[in-house]
Amino acid sequence: MIGILGGTFDPIHLGHLRLAEEVREALNLEQVRFVPAFQPPHRRMPIASAHHRLAMVRQAVQDNPHFMVDTREFARGGASWMVDTCASLRDELGGEPIVLIMGMDAFNGFTRWRAWQQILGLVHLAIATRPGARAEDEAAELLAARSCPTRLLECAPAGRIIEIPITALDISATHIRELSASGRSTRYLLPKAVQEYLTEHSLY
Ligand code: ATP
Repeated sequence: MIGILGGTFDPIHLGHLRLAEEVREALNLEQVRFVPAFQPPHRRMPIASAHHRLAMVRQAVQDNPHFMVDTREFARGGASWMVDTCASLRDELGGEPIVLIMGMDAFNGFTRWRAWQQILGLVHLAIATRPGARAEDEAAELLAARSCPTRLLECAPAGRIIEIPITALDISATHIRELSASGRSTRYLLPKAVQEYLTEHSLY
């Protein structure tokens, strides 16, 4: 089973890495592919260039043999619709189960994503939860309809949803950008190499 973690990664931080690591361990994933969005369609344009965001993701994952960077959204160009990414991964991986990893904040907006039903036909979802995080409205209904025990994920290539409690790390890229822009320290919120990279290139 392969996991994928999409994100703007503007910049990638320890919250993302710990999310990937805990889900990988909980589901015994062979690999987690980090898929940086070239042009995120659901939010304003990233601050750092695509080139810099990709460079930071590469630095962040290099020392974990289970992590890799997947650049298909950069190769495709244009708006990075997750449905297109999942369809292309499905073409590549045949019938292998694929798990799209996301935080509860992202899942609560999932039914507003383009072609979300089609996405569920292509991949499973792993929703990382922290104490107090709850699925709301349509997301809660979807979770109730599709949720399954961990062991059943491997029995189908796609279509199931699992919740995974993870360690709460209250780190966001927004906060890191704000700290950096106001000349404050960003150390210990992201990998050392990434922290040095964003400082060296004055990214935020
Ligand atoms: P921003 O602050 O710019 O919105 P972000 O830090 O939330 O960025 P994204 O690239 O938007 O990062 O997030 C990618 C994925 O990582 C999303 O599924 C999100 O839920 C998850 N995520 C982000 N930060 C954390 C965190 N601290 N703990 C767990 N999951 C996280």
